[in-house]
Amino acid sequence: MDHEDAPAPGTPPRAVLHRRPPLTSRERRRAVLAGLAPIPVVALLLVPFAVWGPATAGDVIGAAIVYGGLLGLAAGFVYVDRVHARQCPRCGVRSPRGTATCPGCAYDLAERPRFACDQRHVVYLEPGLCDCGRRLQPLPTARGVGREITLMLKIGAWLLAFLLGMGFLLQLAGPAGG
Ligand SMILES: [Zn+2]
Ligand SMILES: [Zn+2]
Repeated sequence: MDHEDAPAPGTPPRAVLHRRPPLTSRERRRAVLAGLAPIPVVALLLVPFAVWGPATAGDVIGAAIVYGGLLGLAAGFVYVDRVHARQCPRCGVRSPRGTATCPGCAYDLAERPRFACDQRHVVYLEPGLCDCGRRLQPLPTARGVGREITLMLKIGAWLLAFLLGMGFLLQLAGPAGG
């Protein structure tokens, strides 16, 4: 019996932050699909520039691979993040989307309460005392996609809109050299 990493009696359970199980083969296929899907979508969006505009088919394919690839990277990242978010941070059991309470340990998956002391030493999942002796305070709940990812997606969307807009304006202006 190995009790070395078991918490001391009376210490609330800690959040399992780094123990992330590998994706199943089905989830991996979906992640790849989410990563590749934006490329044909971007290509379709750019087709008018090749048909009625100055862009060549090569330009469209190149832009679709670059911008679709970047969008796909973000989409795959978000998908994997979502899969991991369905995992219980307390016992590691993965539940279907929308499960309110963990079937393994009855942790509140909807609210995901987390606690830490003033010094943020360790994130705990129940109130009580930190290892350092300070009282644990509830942390703001982290819900939905991470703020950084949302920002990244917004920047990507604006960049794409900007490029499409610029292409449209250049098309209106007409080719510079006759
Ligand atoms: Zn659980
Ligand atoms: Zn502490």
